[in-house]
Amino acid sequence: MDEQRTIQKATNENEAPDAETGSGLSRRNFLKGAGIGALSVAGAAGVGAFAGCAPQAATTTTGDAGASGTAAASDLALSPAGASYPWPAEPPEIAEADIESEVDCDVVVVGLGVAGCAAFRSAAEGGAKVVAFEKAATPQQRSSQYAYLNGPHSELWGLQTFSDAELMEIIEGEVKEQNYMVKQDIWVRWARESAEAIEWYCNGVPGFNFEPSPMSMEAPAEGAESEPTPPGIGGGPPADPTTDYSEDRNAYNITLFFSDHQAMLDGQVSTAEGLGAEAYFGHFAEKLIMEGGRCVGAYGRNAETGKYVKANASKGVIMTCGDYFSNEDMVRFFRPDLIENGNGNPWPNFDVEGKPTNTGDGYKLGYWAGASLQQHHAPMTHIMGGTGGINETHGDSMGVMGAAPYLRLNWHGERFMNEDISNVNDEYQVDIQPRRQYLMFFDSKYGEYPELAGLMAASQESIDAAIEAGKCFKGETLDELLDNIQGLDGAAGFDATAKATALKSIQRYNELVAKGTDEDFNKLSKYLKPLESGPFYAQLTGTALCLVVIGGGLESDKEAHVLDLERNIIGGLYAAGNIQGNRFAIKYPFKLGGASHCMAMFYGYIAGQNAAQGV
Ligand SMILES: Cc1cc2nc3c(=O)[nH]c(=O)nc-3n(C[C@H](O)[C@H](O)[C@H](O)COP(=O)(O)OP(=O)(O)OC[C@H]3O[C@@H](n4cnc5c(N)ncnc54)[C@H](O)[C@@H]3O)c2cc1C
Repeated sequence: MDEQRTIQKATNENEAPDAETGSGLSRRNFLKGAGIGALSVAGAAGVGAFAGCAPQAATTTTGDAGASGTAAASDLALSPAGASYPWPAEPPEIAEADIESEVDCDVVVVGLGVAGCAAFRSAAEGGAKVVAFEKAATPQQRSSQYAYLNGPHSELWGLQTFSDAELMEIIEGEVKEQNYMVKQDIWVRWARESAEAIEWYCNGVPGFNFEPSPMSMEAPAEGAESEPTPPGIGGGPPADPTTDYSEDRNAYNITLFFSDHQAMLDGQVSTAEGLGAEAYFGHFAEKLIMEGGRCVGAYGRNAETGKYVKANASKGVIMTCGDYFSNEDMVRFFRPDLIENGNGNPWPNFDVEGKPTNTGDGYKLGYWAGASLQQHHAPMTHIMGGTGGINETHGDSMGVMGAAPYLRLNWHGERFMNEDISNVNDEYQVDIQPRRQYLMFFDSKYGEYPELAGLMAASQESIDAAIEAGKCFKGETLDELLDNIQGLDGAAGFDATAKATALKSIQRYNELVAKGTDEDFNKLSKYLKPLESGPFYAQLTGTALCLVVIGGGLESDKEAHVLDLERNIIGGLYAAGNIQGNRFAIKYPFKLGGASHCMAMFYGYIAGQNAAQGV
């Protein structure tokens, strides 16, 4: 461990983490949020409503999963800048008497999510004896989109392809979108090699069906028997088919949907187990074993006995233990804006002790092993048209028109943004508006604009239901519409000044539409449509849910090595998935929908290969 860290101790009493007082996602909220599994990360809407998070605060839990007990204030870990990280400076002591068994292997994998399942199988296929610790009862997953770039099945799956030069331009664009705060070579390697890894991933699942089959978003009727279908490629909402990558705006059409994501993960695990790999479910990795600066194993606490399994790894440990969005202390430290802006937490996965699985354990484990933590963490938030202020009444992240590029006005009645930017950037625009909300205006011709409907294809029935629920408003004239608009939870609508400004803003917008050029915000002409045919509508839109804090993690390289504070490789330590740093910064970019899953799988695959070879 870094000497500076062990000598200096934090002293601020107020910064002591409280292991007990987190607001915590309840089981009830979890069940209500189960429908989130169908959520589209490319910004689709029109699927089932989701409810269940606290208003105006990220629904997270505090706690110190990496250590047994609350840290004393003077024992907090220190950041290189001298601030106190919200976890103890030292890992827990594990007495010999608390070790229930010891296992010798080549590679230990910590966490069996998307990245871990790929690493588990990849290392086993590389000839390693592999052991995994997973704190939940099964491999953990959520919705099923993966980016698929220039693969042999692109055409079959109806996806766009690019020349290598175009692909490099796209990747440069993604890196630029993140202010060059990520490693471009990690992106380039992924962009060029991941389609091959998807092939490998699919072939790890017995009976995988490469022929695409439409996936229903509808829940089966009660009591209906459904035919078991082999896992394969399902359908999903496509990105706007008119989007050209050179427009540098929205999502590209490169995203596949697995029809059964759990089967994809289970398939990796059972294939690896067939090669002798061993998964310990319900086991919490709480400490890495370091010898001479090298990682040589890990301790996993068996939740049933409270005792530890000591796994000695001759070749290395692969960290695939996810993000920290359900650890409120870490969110407050690294991304306090998510709490201030009230981004809700729809996390659907729980460990065997009932806590959300994404509690940032890997940050602590990595820190104690001397790893450098990435700066400028990136949340995965994207507007899908919901009202924000997530609560029992308004509880969903979806709006009937999604984030379609219609005219948006804030509560002062002003237009404030180019509406065709991606729905990730949309979030940052909402964050800085009055009430952190806007109204999105459309008229009775909405059905005539497929390029605006984008992912949504709203029906009159769904619009009427949204009006009934107070999330959308209607008026035969613009004047009437503006009078009918109400705030959330009884808040006022437009006052006279804001209404007059709104009418002027709409008039100005219609002038720009007539000119065919958005002189004010540079929206693409194809998205400029007039507001002229009543009835008129306005969708109330607020801040989005945050799915994960995806960027952050342990600093890494394109071989999935973990780096120390001097940016040298820590021998025997690898990272993939959300604990792998230097992939995303500031915000999750959105043009390559499913980049997160695909990159987690890809670098899990790479980490497994490298660890098996000990390189
Ligand atoms: C609702 C929702 C929908 C999403 N949809 C998409 C999508 O369609 N496309 C996309 O690209 N991304 C999507 N994402 C994001 C994506 O799911 C994640 O970024 C990605 O799966 C992370 O993979 P991972 O393997 O790094 O982490 P995880 O999948 O979180 O896996 C980490 C695993 O490690 C285990 N673990 C953690 N700590 C320990 C410990 N101490 N000991 C033992 N085990 C431990 C956890 O239990 C978990 O199983 C979505 C996120 C959410 C919340």
